[in-house]
Amino acid sequence: MAWSMATRWRPALGGLIGLGGLIGLGGALLSRGSPLSELGLAPATDPDVIFIVLDTVRSSSTSLCGHDRPTTPVLESLKRQGWATTCRAVTPGTWTVPSHASFFTGWEVSDFEGGARQPTPEQTLTGQLAARGYQTAMISANMVLKEPGWIGEGFDTLEIAHSFSELKGDALSGSVAARLEALDPDRPLFLFVNVVDAHAPYPAVPEGLGWIEPQRPVQHRMWLKDRQTPFNRYVSGEMGDAEARRYRRRLANGYDYGVFQADRSLGRILGLLRGADRLGHARVVITSDHGEFVGEHQLVGHGDTLYEPGVRVPLLFHPAAGPSPVLPEPLSARHVFELLLEGALPDPEPPISVVTHQPSQRTSYSGVAVWGPDEQKLLWRDGTLQRFDLSADPGELRPLPVGQHPLLPVLEASAEAHNHAVASTRSPGEETIELLRAAGYVE
Ligand SMILES: [Zn+2]
Repeated sequence: MAWSMATRWRPALGGLIGLGGLIGLGGALLSRGSPLSELGLAPATDPDVIFIVLDTVRSSSTSLCGHDRPTTPVLESLKRQGWATTCRAVTPGTWTVPSHASFFTGWEVSDFEGGARQPTPEQTLTGQLAARGYQTAMISANMVLKEPGWIGEGFDTLEIAHSFSELKGDALSGSVAARLEALDPDRPLFLFVNVVDAHAPYPAVPEGLGWIEPQRPVQHRMWLKDRQTPFNRYVSGEMGDAEARRYRRRLANGYDYGVFQADRSLGRILGLLRGADRLGHARVVITSDHGEFVGEHQLVGHGDTLYEPGVRVPLLFHPAAGPSPVLPEPLSARHVFELLLEGALPDPEPPISVVTHQPSQRTSYSGVAVWGPDEQKLLWRDGTLQRFDLSADPGELRPLPVGQHPLLPVLEASAEAHNHAVASTRSPGEETIELLRAAGYVE
């Protein structure tokens, strides 16, 4: 399994970091003006910084973003309270590790050159906050974040689950509560929590919920080679229409209930932070690392293609002080790095580009997508170029000619960086492969 990405804008940012952090550069990096209020009104001490990733939560399955089931009442309440909110964030990668690597550095996935290039501690979010005197804690319910090891560096405390079931629901909030009780009250906090409740296997839907019929847990078992499993028959197109409809329904039910559970976990965590007086004046980002396919494009799960269900996620931001900014749309979720570090987006924002490279999946997929204004999206896959008008064709079923579209040079530059990264890709170590196998990502 490999992952990869583009350095065109990053060196400038790296240079600024090298000058001792971004905070003194104020206006040069502020976006759309509104975060000025945060810097202008911020208390003399550094604010608490809270980063919560709702793993595997796509926009289209949240009631926050218009889903017709009440899956995310907590996210909706945050929006009502005035948090900056977008349903059009685009994840930097297509699965957990590349997206988190990008969150913690602001780099594009190609910048890591397939794992051959790693950030120094001075370049990471955690390293910079630790250098400012923050106490730092990571609690990850997603076990694959054990690797690469640099993601955990700079954290004073590190708790990573051993399985997808270990830190769901109450177990996760119990860990957060224990961590908050152990804090030094006189130092600012950087807390990162990965909430994995929406990730497969999807939980059983209980009786009496009222908006999803009860059903047993759903496990994709995508690593099984037996061609007769429901997953394999569905993705290969061998499942009949009626059964496929039932299968998709079951997937959507289980996933929606998982999203609901993730939102409940978020509510518990925010309640604990509020109780510990670590929320009101904190700088907070809540987003997801990738989406999920529940049958669209004949796909189930996540990790390879660049269609919207796999990469379009919600992103919410609460500034430490002052009114919430209006977030630009679309927005690359890799900029959680700047939002968390300084409370502002880069200005100008670089174009949004996402790459994926999955040579070991059942169908090899190497691709690049770029998003522009007016819901225009260009997609390149192994030499094939397509354009989608997401407003007229949200399901991405009708590819259009690319022509001389203004985004084409961006796509070509990204594809070039991507190809370079793929060529540099290092094979993952045995430990990483074991983690991915345990997580069901590889055979
Ligand atoms: Zn993930």
